[in-house]
Amino acid sequence: MKDTEDEEKPEPNTNCLAGMACPKCKVTEPFNIVVTTMVTAWDDRTEPPGHGGDQKWMDESYCECLECGVGATVADFYTKNQTKKAK
Ligand SMILES: [Zn+2]
Repeated sequence: MKDTEDEEKPEPNTNCLAGMACPKCKVTEPFNIVVTTMVTAWDDRTEPPGHGGDQKWMDESYCECLECGVGATVADFYTKNQTKKAK
């Protein structure tokens, strides 16, 4: 399994937004999503963890469409029937 990061992917949402689209206006990006970020913490400072600091969200995380402003949960943005391809 390859998991390379391609900055110029022609197809939208095949990476961290795969399967997601706005339930209202159907855009596939961008969204504001509440994420949980891991940091390495000392008593006097924090740093991103060595592996780069994953930002993760869950199905119940709040998600907001920047296009139409609708707010819902990430689960609501997962639409398997909507495989719309943006340019
Ligand atoms: Zn929208």
